[in-house]
Amino acid sequence: MTPDRHPARTVLLYSLIATLVLPSAAWTKTPVVTGTGGAVATISEPASRAALAILDQGGNAIDAAVAAAATLGVTDPFSCGIGGGGFMVIYLARDKRVITIDHRETAPAGFTPTVFQENGAPMKFETVRDSGMSVGVPGTVRGWHEALDRYGSMSFKQVLAPAIAVATDGFAVSENFSRMAGENKAKFSMFPATAALYLKNGEAVAAGGTLRNPDLAKAYRELAAGGVKAFYSGKMARAVVDAVNRPATAPDVRVRGGNMTLADLANYEARLRQPVHSTYRGYDIYGMPLPGSGGIAIAEALNILEGYDLKSMPRARAEHLYLEASRLAFADRNAYLADPEYVDAPVAGLLSKDYAALRRQQIDPAQARKPAAAGDPYAFQSDQSVPLRPATASPVKMLKESAHTTHLTVSDKDGNIVAYTYTIEDWGGSGIVVPGYGFLLNNEMTDFDFSGPRPNVPEAGKRPRSSMSPTLAFRNGKPAFSIGSPGGATIITTVLQTIVNHVDLGMAMPDALNAPRLSERNGEATDVEPGFPGSAQAVALEKSGQRWSATPEEIGAANALVFNPDGTVTAVSEGRRHGIGSALVQKKPH
Ligand code: GLU
Repeated sequence: MTPDRHPARTVLLYSLIATLVLPSAAWTKTPVVTGTGGAVATISEPASRAALAILDQGGNAIDAAVAAAATLGVTDPFSCGIGGGGFMVIYLARDKRVITIDHRETAPAGFTPTVFQENGAPMKFETVRDSGMSVGVPGTVRGWHEALDRYGSMSFKQVLAPAIAVATDGFAVSENFSRMAGENKAKFSMFPATAALYLKNGEAVAAGGTLRNPDLAKAYRELAAGGVKAFYSGKMARAVVDAVNRPATAPDVRVRGGNMTLADLANYEARLRQPVHSTYRGYDIYGMPLPGSGGIAIAEALNILEGYDLKSMPRARAEHLYLEASRLAFADRNAYLADPEYVDAPVAGLLSKDYAALRRQQIDPAQARKPAAAGDPYAFQSDQSVPLRPATASPVKMLKESAHTTHLTVSDKDGNIVAYTYTIEDWGGSGIVVPGYGFLLNNEMTDFDFSGPRPNVPEAGKRPRSSMSPTLAFRNGKPAFSIGSPGGATIITTVLQTIVNHVDLGMAMPDALNAPRLSERNGEATDVEPGFPGSAQAVALEKSGQRWSATPEEIGAANALVFNPDGTVTAVSEGRRHGIGSALVQKKPH
């Protein structure tokens, strides 16, 4: 692409596009809508509008997904952005094929298994998180490039235009945005570039105001003009490396620098991976493969649940089984799963229906088993030569995993679908905004286990295990629904529970999404949303020994599409969580 020699003119052009496609009229957020043509569901109104604008300009679902993601980088910068990475699952209607693009952040070449240890003990989570050490080589821009280049129909310049307009003209700060900035005040005030953007006089930017991010608009314009290289080499790459290795901090604040090189950035590659494929009650389910653990864990849990007639059971009994299946899948996930380029995980065994049948026998339909030990899937591997066996029968304890990120989903008139989860890990990632470029750097390296022996310890060039689970479901070869959510390890349970709610408990997708979330990850107690303990549903489940731990926040912020038998599509976002999502379709029925 030729570099843009007329930046001022370009800004004008983007502003013009903004007024055309993003009129400032107050839109009411609609979490559910049915129509024809393309459809989109995201957690942010400007992001959904951006996707729709691209669809209306003739772009396909892939173009629109990148446009929405770039806009989310402006309006939801604490969850995602070009300083992070993600997983994109794409259905190509013409080829009837599902592919995935793994653009997960990667450990710099200087990483070792003990990089997060000091004096023989793991470092404190916050010490690592709020520092340059936690930053992985960002994969977002490379992922967008691969998506557009291979499957899109538009250029970076076209799809970034709506996001550039939002970053330039500003967006309305929501209550949710202001709350998240407030919760991260301590972290953000450590880094002047971050404080300048998201705090005002040391306090969170207030709800109701307009927030502009001209530096991010500049970064996007450089990508629009220079393509993927503008991020992975040259000035922006040097700014990233400097911010990681020598983060500029407020006076008296000391944080550790990382050890990232320009070569780490130049060498970054996205991976095209075959999706995890499983079946469930007549549906074909396609999920994210390793280093994503969600596709495998969801498939294992569904395989376990398939042996029960959940539909005909009282809800409490069905949900008890859902919780126990999730527990067993997490026991295996925690024990075995990690980056497949470093670890020989027993994926075929974990996905086998026979292994699921064995695991099913370990469920007591009347009594919770907590916590469960990992099973032995090796006997169900097609390759019996693999010598690894579970080292211990005791459960692998889950380490701290936080709950953030964003998920979006888009379809187009030709039937292409994108389910895309992308992240900078913690709310606000490492807390470090790259000075002059307006985006936060991830802290994705904290998704590694800080000590071993574990499959998921840090190593040079390795990708930390993820829970992000963008998922597509088909029936009789036709798209049925797409689903995904943010929320760290709760992503897996949110997607699993939504599928069970929809497929087994007969809930329409909006109800499946809005139902209280119960997240069992093989702990002593199941994480539930505030307000759930004490409810009739909770009391009924307690009879089979289920116990709760109320999370301070809502669990997840899911987005879904449902492809209806009459050819319409229903876009579904959250009806109450995360400030309510935004669902849009190209054509509403009259
Ligand atoms: N780092 C998480 C993962 O990849 C996503 C971030 C989050 O939701 O907390 O699983």
